[in-house]
Amino acid sequence: MFNYISVVGMEHMICEMCGKDVPTTKPVFIERTKLNLCGACARFGDEQRESKGVAQKGPSAQAIEQRLQSRERRMQTRDIYSGKESRHLMDEYGEAIRTARMRKGLSQEDFAASIGIKKGMLSKIEANDLIPEDKLVARIEKALGISLMEEVAYSGGTQSGSSGKMTLQDFIRRE
Ligand SMILES: [Zn+2]
Repeated sequence: MFNYISVVGMEHMICEMCGKDVPTTKPVFIERTKLNLCGACARFGDEQRESKGVAQKGPSAQAIEQRLQSRERRMQTRDIYSGKESRHLMDEYGEAIRTARMRKGLSQEDFAASIGIKKGMLSKIEANDLIPEDKLVARIEKALGISLMEEVAYSGGTQSGSSGKMTLQDFIRRE
């Protein structure tokens, strides 16, 4: 009998859906694609679904999606995503502060005093000559009702050429 698992020839079995290391996987068809899955994932196979009727396709597809996502997390090397703040001070923070301050009709003296710094310091910040520390940035943002931070878009998975959610098709192509 043809044994798919031995053809793959991995030292240990990795479930092709959730990425879990398991002692053994079994070949299961999902959406007409053959995958070697752990016991927990195997129940999402087409056969099972057909024998129980088509009604559960929705929730089951969602469960597959969740497992694919957990697989993606496992497969990702730890260094890429550490959950760090991806915000940083905008380049033109000085200009933004000055504009917002003037819109509020505040002089440099008044505004500096209201956030507890010297006028000279504020004028340096507004000239982009001095980078305010995080706490001060927060105070300025609050006082002026503006945001001085920029989101840095995290483009995960650039090495493998895909970003965001991985679909079943994506990962089949990868293997
Ligand atoms: Zn699995």
